[in-house]
Amino acid sequence: MPAGDSENPVICPDPAVVHQAAVSDIADSLFARHQVSVEMLRLDQTDALLNGNKPFKLIPNLQQARAAGYDTVLSFGGAFSNHIHALAEAGRRFGFKTIAVIRGDDGQALSHTLQFAAAAGMRLIFVSRQQYRRRHDADFIAELKATVGNVYVIPEGGANDLGVHGSMQLATVIANSLPPDAAVDEVLLACGTGTTMAGLIAGLQRYPDATPAPFVRGIAVLKQGEFLHTDVARFIAMLNPAAAARAVSWHVETSLHWGGYARFPPALAAFMREFEHNHGILLDPVYTVKLVSAVYHRVAQGLYQPGSRLLLLHTGGLQGRGERCN
Ligand SMILES: *Cc1c(COP(=O)(O)O)cnc(C)c1O
Repeated sequence: MPAGDSENPVICPDPAVVHQAAVSDIADSLFARHQVSVEMLRLDQTDALLNGNKPFKLIPNLQQARAAGYDTVLSFGGAFSNHIHALAEAGRRFGFKTIAVIRGDDGQALSHTLQFAAAAGMRLIFVSRQQYRRRHDADFIAELKATVGNVYVIPEGGANDLGVHGSMQLATVIANSLPPDAAVDEVLLACGTGTTMAGLIAGLQRYPDATPAPFVRGIAVLKQGEFLHTDVARFIAMLNPAAAARAVSWHVETSLHWGGYARFPPALAAFMREFEHNHGILLDPVYTVKLVSAVYHRVAQGLYQPGSRLLLLHTGGLQGRGERCN
């Protein structure tokens, strides 16, 4: 269906659609013993389907696609991709046709993520792992466009300048969600591409507040995450660093990934079950469980001064939880 026809009016998504999120206090004897306060910003609860960090990255891309006259958006992902799930839903809501280039081979049973995407109207194109490696190559993208037409292309994970720009909104969401006198010492989040982290840092740099900004700590969920230091710095530099009004210190932890991307060893599964049981907060096995386990690890190591106040970003991803946990 073409975008903007009378049955399916185009709604231009508002980039600031999420202004606030719930904050959960995580009370735990470990944290009490170390006198560290731990809270979690529940981006997983901002919408039934389009939640977590992905809409922050996608919505400015969809606005750009709309402004440039595209009715179709294409992106890339694996069979369990939260990004593909979010793009399928955002496309359906905002009147875009969507296409996903999926790593893996056709003919396999579709994951729930891909079943959802297909049901939302997304066209799925399966490519081999070898072809998928070319996802950033201009030649490969040109070949794809020759097949599917002139589409607006969003890189895997929404990892582009507009994705960073949209993630700046997280600084506002944090400020709006906490009481005005709450001085957070450190914000922690899980990192895949580092796009969300870069946007958060840039947003905090620009946030009109005279108080010192919190430290931002990323937890790399993949092996050899050292590249994130370069990528986060490069993403921040894309956004006119001269506009920064205050300094934000940050670091990416690269040794708390539990063996690599989507590795979910039994001890981590046990940690996740116990955390979910004790706190009534669901985690996903790829990103947020590694964030939360990293925080327990760091507090247990005595890395925080008594009185420290930590804020964890629950970046969602619960849609993929069931099938990846089994
Ligand atoms: C995609 C995703 C991330 C990582 O975001 P980046 O911007 O790629 O670093 C973190 N958490 C969840 C739940 C995600 O789906």
